[in-house]
Amino acid sequence: MPLIHLLSACDQRCVFCSYPAETVGTERAGLAAWAAALKEPGLVQVSGGEPLLADREELLKFLLYCAGRRRRVEVQTNGVPLARLPEAYFSRLVRAVKLSGGYFNVNFPSGTAAGDLKITRTRGAFAARVRGVRRLIKAGAAVRLTHVVSSLNYRRLPSFVEFAAAELKGVSWIQFSFIKAYGRSGSGLYVPRYAAVSPYLVKALGLCRERGLACETDHIPPCFLGEFALSSVDAKKLSSKERGPQLAEKAYVAACRGCRMKKICPGPRKDYIKVHKTL
Ligand code: SF4
Repeated sequence: MPLIHLLSACDQRCVFCSYPAETVGTERAGLAAWAAALKEPGLVQVSGGEPLLADREELLKFLLYCAGRRRRVEVQTNGVPLARLPEAYFSRLVRAVKLSGGYFNVNFPSGTAAGDLKITRTRGAFAARVRGVRRLIKAGAAVRLTHVVSSLNYRRLPSFVEFAAAELKGVSWIQFSFIKAYGRSGSGLYVPRYAAVSPYLVKALGLCRERGLACETDHIPPCFLGEFALSSVDAKKLSSKERGPQLAEKAYVAACRGCRMKKICPGPRKDYIKVHKTL
């Protein structure tokens, strides 16, 4: 599936950002290059930096171009610019994404302003993000929350679910995505052990079930997911024989020998093993 980085600029400084550039840039390939990326089949992931900082009319044209070619779009955003967009443009943006059959994927790393500040290092971002997501829900857009799990927030996974269920009613689903040890978090400083995260994550997944919130997990092996092993994105992909570049980022390790879940698991991420040495 095409992953298109519209620009490298972003209005946040998330500690887990896997996009390689720490400094913001202004390079932008433009509509023709974005359209050329559609040669690759599958969901069109529109990303950045922060894609909603791109030229507004060009972004809209591209989304409509995708919709016109029956290509489903995922707009990956930190949600902050959504709170500030003028109403007329906001409506056109939501309509274009809906036309494609797609959704907004909002990076939502914490259920509290203090936790958010620690992770995004951006004052005022939490309140703006909440407003942005509520605005999307009110406009009838499909919204996925991506909660990147790091050493800074894993103990609060259950309370994040309570927050989302109470304050962001109407989100379509939550993805709990384990932090990658590359890009800005390449040192591994914020990469917790799977085993430490597991009890909190399993509890959070159970709460999602109780609250009727759809959810999935990514980049954490099913052997750490208890009864929720099949919530893993890889499990779904491998079960449906879908192969993707993400499989190359993972490999079996000694502890995987004889594991009965190999059919639904490509092993832990290689960057995780580089940080922690063992599963
Ligand atoms: S293959 Fe390895 S990482 Fe995957 S579930 Fe089995 S033991 Fe865990």
